[in-house]
Amino acid sequence: MPDSPTSPEDLIRQLEDNNRQLRETCQNQQENQDALEQLIGDTNAKLLRSEMLSMELEQVFSACTDALWVIREDGVVVRANQAMLDLLQKPASEVLGQDCSSLLDYGRCQSDLCPLHTAKNNQQEFDIELQSASGQTSYHILTAAPLVTLDGRPGIVGQFKDITSRKQAEEELAQANAALKRMARIDGLTQIANRRCFDETLQQEWRRMAREGKPLSLLLGDIDYFKRFNDHYGHQLGDDCLRLIAGALEGAILRPADLAARYGGEEFVLLLPDVNLQGALQVGERAQTAIQQLAIEHQASEVAKIVSMSFGATCLQPTAEQSHEQLVALADKALYQAKEQGRNRIIPALPERPDDGQQKAAP
Ligand code: GH3
Ligand code: MG
Ligand code: MG
Repeated sequence: MPDSPTSPEDLIRQLEDNNRQLRETCQNQQENQDALEQLIGDTNAKLLRSEMLSMELEQVFSACTDALWVIREDGVVVRANQAMLDLLQKPASEVLGQDCSSLLDYGRCQSDLCPLHTAKNNQQEFDIELQSASGQTSYHILTAAPLVTLDGRPGIVGQFKDITSRKQAEEELAQANAALKRMARIDGLTQIANRRCFDETLQQEWRRMAREGKPLSLLLGDIDYFKRFNDHYGHQLGDDCLRLIAGALEGAILRPADLAARYGGEEFVLLLPDVNLQGALQVGERAQTAIQQLAIEHQASEVAKIVSMSFGATCLQPTAEQSHEQLVALADKALYQAKEQGRNRIIPALPERPDDGQQKAAP
């Protein structure tokens, strides 16, 4: 049976249905388009932000005054800032894409100590020393931290903090301190060891000789009639005389452990570790000869026409129980005797009597 002919009303209704469906589809498409546009807008904004962030980071990287570079796990340099290029003294074209060990070697390359290994998982710090092409040494703290490079492979960022000037300042300070320390132990007038240096050295050597079971000798010297020398020739020449005597005494000691020092005023000491009394007397004679050879005129002296010196010599076997002061006291006694017996001579300290409770003199 043939289809019944569609009435105009049906046709209109159908057309209206179609029309409504089309409008709905259009509206859906508009909504999709809006959503898509919104998405594209958001994505563009994100892209812009990320580009700006990247530019900002690049600027921070470049502006950093510490040398920075990024090294991929295979050792290839993927990024380096201006300070790094300055440190390497190379343009970017000769740095980027190169193997880092061919550009900078501070003794850790191709070993387990390489920061590419040691800082793979944790940030590490190293003190390193670099030599420039012109042979100049600079000192740095290298901080190496793990990161992921742009191509997604692991690597490290290395930061070189230049501490050369700080190191130099520390060195200068240490030298100044050492010079101060030296100066605190040197007599200003004669430039030989002073009383403080002698006191410290005496204690040290007393302990050392006690440990090693070796004798310690001391010569205490005093210039004869020096008050008269000053009165006759003036204080200035007196000072000159003290300087010359100090030089002669220092010339009379030969071993590195021996010490010549100004004890005070016109008194000097010669401390002689591991020297027996006989050896001390020999050193004393050498000192007297050196003073004679100076031939400093002394018309006011009653013992010679030139400046002379009297010495008290002593030698003890130090022990931990006895005091080093004993050595000076005995030398002082002997010096007094040298003065008493006419000056310009060396008198050895008399051996102590066993019952007087004093330190036994070494043979
Ligand atoms: P003696 O032979 O008994 O040792 O007689 P002396 O005159 O040397 O001894 P005294 O202790 O009476 O005098 C020491 C003199 O040393 C007194 C002082 O004028 C002098 N003197 C001490 N220190 C210095 C100094 O730094 N410079 C000068 N020029 N003289 C000094
Ligand atoms: Mg004196
Ligand atoms: Mg004197």
